[in-house]
Amino acid sequence: MEAGHIGGGPAASAAGTGRRMTTDFYNLLLTDCALALILLGLFWYVSRVSRGVRGIASWGAGHFIYSLGAAMLDGTATGLERAGSATATVVVAAIGGILACGGLAVLAGATIKFVQQRPLRRTEWMLVPAFVALSLLAWLAGDAIDGQGAAMSLAELAMLAVMLWQLRQLDTPPLRVPARLVMLGCMVLAFLYGRDLLHAFTGRYGPNDAWVNVDLSTWYLINFCMLMLTSFRAAESLRQTAMLDPLTGTLNRRGLFARLDPDLERLTREGHLAVIALDLDHFKRVNDRYGHEIGDLVLQKLSDTIRSQTREHDVFARTGGEEFVIVVTGPDAHNAHHLAERIRVSLSTMRLDPPAPPVRVTSSLGVAMSNRSMPLSMLMRGADEALYTAKRAGRDCVVTHTL
Ligand code: GH3
Ligand code: MG
Ligand code: MG
Repeated sequence: MEAGHIGGGPAASAAGTGRRMTTDFYNLLLTDCALALILLGLFWYVSRVSRGVRGIASWGAGHFIYSLGAAMLDGTATGLERAGSATATVVVAAIGGILACGGLAVLAGATIKFVQQRPLRRTEWMLVPAFVALSLLAWLAGDAIDGQGAAMSLAELAMLAVMLWQLRQLDTPPLRVPARLVMLGCMVLAFLYGRDLLHAFTGRYGPNDAWVNVDLSTWYLINFCMLMLTSFRAAESLRQTAMLDPLTGTLNRRGLFARLDPDLERLTREGHLAVIALDLDHFKRVNDRYGHEIGDLVLQKLSDTIRSQTREHDVFARTGGEEFVIVVTGPDAHNAHHLAERIRVSLSTMRLDPPAPPVRVTSSLGVAMSNRSMPLSMLMRGADEALYTAKRAGRDCVVTHTL
């Protein structure tokens, strides 16, 4: 909720090139800062409870620093200027400008982190010195408040450009609606801050009560939507976690079906499906001999090995303790038995990285494929039966059933 820094208009023209600031307006700025502080606490709390969602705590911090800087520049410095304290005006305006520009850079970085869900790159960190440099340059300009006002408006416009550029990437439900509302808010603010910039360059920078409400309400909307986006992101990350096996990082049974679901009808119709079921041989002995932890390492290494053998659109999942399924999709489904054989060979030569003991494992695999359209459930059953046959045939082999 940025208050103030809305210049010109009737207020400025009434006082010529001077600036008018009412007590009401100053109170509004202080309330805005207090609210930004409460929001900082709220955003920090939300970031704690929605672990895994990046950027929201930085958003709260950036917003508070920006609000504080803008209140100093638009409120305190303007008041000091009216009281005739020239030196204090310059100092407070400069500190306010630096804080506001720095806060805006943090907001831009937070948006990148939030949208991309990754840490900032080194070049993106450069936003902070670049934005703060605007304010330092303004120090060289004549009128402290106009100079800092221009710097802040420029930084605001740059931050809004970053936000618009980033948020357009959130275009799938449920993120799309709140993201579009934030973008709309950014455009309204860009209009207001564009006017500010114009006024700063013409020496008429200063608060304009008429626009403050629009400015404040827009920031309310943006912050509200950011909270909404965070809760959607957190829910999505929980949903993803529920589909993964924590030990191996592969999909679990639920994840397997969720991943296949959107394309299943088409793949079934085209007959482009094959299922490989895999079970480690005598795995209980590995646990008994080396311990459960080494058994876990074997399962992790096995998952990595299988992942390196499959293609991106094959779906690999851990469906039980030492049981795995690979659903081969596309025209390659007809070569699933070759893939199964390659996997069997690579698992039999797989070794744990030292200092873990060089455990040897073998695996049995059952493959089910069909030359016609066949439901996934039948292929899964067929693969299980083929696996059972492989176990009875002495293990460490592949058995293929064509249904
Ligand atoms: P078979 O060749 O007939 O498949 O023999 P097996 O010993 O592999 O089969 P069984 O189903 O009797 O035993 C499976 C073992 O897998 C039992 C359990 O100790 C082990 N296991 C299952 N889940 C895990 C796990 O998450 N970690 C470890 N370390 N072991 C597991
Ligand atoms: Mg087994
Ligand atoms: Mg088993």
